[in-house]
Amino acid sequence: MSQALGLHTHADVRGVEGIRILKVLTAAEAMEGQYSLEDILIWEDWLPGTAGSIHFDSGNGISISRLRDDAVVKPGDVIRLRPNASLVSVLYRRGSKANTLFATEQCNSDCIMCSQPPRNEDDSWRVDEVERTIELVDRDEIQLGMSGGEPTLLRDRLGHLIDVASRRLPETVLHILSNGRTLGDREFATQVAGRRLQHVVWAVPLYGDVADLHDEVVRAAGSFNETLDGLYQLGRLGARVELRVVLHKMTIGRLPQLASFIYRRLPFVEHVALMGLEPMGFAKRNRDQLWIDPADYTTQLQEAVFHLHNRGITTSIYNLPLCVLPTQLWPFAEQSISDWKNVYAKDCEGCVVMSRCAGFFASAGQAWRSRSVRPIINEGYAA
Ligand code: SF4
Repeated sequence: MSQALGLHTHADVRGVEGIRILKVLTAAEAMEGQYSLEDILIWEDWLPGTAGSIHFDSGNGISISRLRDDAVVKPGDVIRLRPNASLVSVLYRRGSKANTLFATEQCNSDCIMCSQPPRNEDDSWRVDEVERTIELVDRDEIQLGMSGGEPTLLRDRLGHLIDVASRRLPETVLHILSNGRTLGDREFATQVAGRRLQHVVWAVPLYGDVADLHDEVVRAAGSFNETLDGLYQLGRLGARVELRVVLHKMTIGRLPQLASFIYRRLPFVEHVALMGLEPMGFAKRNRDQLWIDPADYTTQLQEAVFHLHNRGITTSIYNLPLCVLPTQLWPFAEQSISDWKNVYAKDCEGCVVMSRCAGFFASAGQAWRSRSVRPIINEGYAA
């Protein structure tokens, strides 16, 4: 199996006092002067015998050398260092399509397949870390994700982060993953979602066309109506909205009805993402209620995709390998799995479509793989 490119590695780290968020640059980039010298580390892999070392020597004396995995950190990245620790963590990776800022671990939902189970403890320090990271992201970055937990629970501080992004990254699209429940409050929605309309996409999960189903998945009574209220507020404001549907045993049965519901009731939605399950967190614990082989739901998936697509709603399939999909669905399938979670199986060797296939989550062992996985040996193959 291939290895995902991780976000953490260890190294010989020196001179760090207090938590530091820093930008790694080549010497040539550093000389452009876009960033304060206090905020940067200079990558010096050209020095004889120091391949993979990063060094900063203009005052605070921080240095990193002997990275255990020197593929993890590269020029352009934003990293976190802690005092007296060897861990180097990448918060932003230049060139990745999957950069996501983790704004809070707190959430007002308890979704049965949550890959990042919420924790109810004070983690307000994350807002400062996200703000600091935004300040150091490449100015020409196309898209930046923000997730949690539930970012809207940050209330005014979320608005502040949007403003920081607006000031530092005026062309970057911020992709905020939110359950939408708090956005039903008209005043709050106007205040937080009424800003930077064309540069923020609100990605909101919806799991059914009926309240009972959505509430059962979210494990919060009333959440269907609250999410719809939030979506209508976003629609009223003219905000950009993406809907996200996670595909599993509970949601598949009414997927075609949900597609019809989206077209009839939420026509302002600009994108619908139909997403294979990530086997992490609560999903692992609740496998019996959730697992269905994707090979067994291609009929419902096809019906939903073409219902939306034929009515002009942009539709994507995330996290599913091409070999389990009928070829008619291949144009909708995206390489959606973040690089630091993405692997290909031993079975994929020799597959001619690997370069455009989503592959698998690194957390997906054999028990989470479709029986239909097999290498495509020519483009005429039909699943
Ligand atoms: S065999 Fe090919 S299509 Fe199937 S998961 Fe591997 S790379 Fe993707």
